[in-house]
Amino acid sequence: MKRVGAHVSASGGVENAPLNAEKIGARAFALFTKNQRQWRAKPLSQGCITGFKANLKKVGIAPEHVLPHDSYLINLGHPDPVALQKSRGAFLDEMQRCEQLGLQMLNFHPGSHLKKISETESLAIVADSINQTLDRTNGVAAVIENTAGQGTNLGYRFEHLRAIIDQVEEKSRVGVCLDTCHTFTAGYDLRTEATCDTTFQAFDDVVGFEYLRGMHLNDSKPDLGSRVDRHESLGKGKLGWTVFRYIMNDDRFEEIPLILETVDDTLWAEEIRQLYALVETG
Ligand SMILES: [Zn+2]
Ligand SMILES: [Zn+2]
Repeated sequence: MKRVGAHVSASGGVENAPLNAEKIGARAFALFTKNQRQWRAKPLSQGCITGFKANLKKVGIAPEHVLPHDSYLINLGHPDPVALQKSRGAFLDEMQRCEQLGLQMLNFHPGSHLKKISETESLAIVADSINQTLDRTNGVAAVIENTAGQGTNLGYRFEHLRAIIDQVEEKSRVGVCLDTCHTFTAGYDLRTEATCDTTFQAFDDVVGFEYLRGMHLNDSKPDLGSRVDRHESLGKGKLGWTVFRYIMNDDRFEEIPLILETVDDTLWAEEIRQLYALVETG
């Protein structure tokens, strides 16, 4: 079964996220477990944790179909040791929050080299950050998202994801999340069935579908290879519907969270309905 959902609001408390997912007909969802624009957050209360788990059960969404996203401030490949420590501390806190909520994954953008070190050096720092965090946590996998490659962001080539995975010790607790907008603006075409075949084959060759733990389903405002990260509502951007029909009918995307991060949240319920309607039967 395909598990489509969206990055829903957790305002008022994480326990509200599963209810917000249910309202739009989601079978999966993403959330921030703390304010994504702040470094510090107070610990999750026991009430929030119990409430989150109870609501998850109530709406019938399994923990493996929830893909939390970390704070945008964190840079696990930071060239400066002091700033790197701050990011690693915040990332550990986020992993522990996922653990407390009974979740199995944390989705994050790999990091940025900030023109101070090479991509290769920065990727090695990212891998080291992951290793240190996995050592101090249990059960939660680090899920690296591919990026558009804006500025000095790493992760716009499948080879970057591979380089990180190669240097992670506990391979069963590292995975990747592909964002359709980022993939496209990073230079991998997804506009036709043939280009979807080529791009996903390249992903399988370099990274391997066994590492795919989730997808972000976004259309793209900017063009192929623009290296700009700007999401658009499904069917309204440069990608169009083909890639989404492709994903909804391909077994390699079964039972993983397929998460909308499209720009107009009032359309999410309709977008989820449209995606399920793309599934060809018989
Ligand atoms: Zn994304
Ligand atoms: Zn994005």
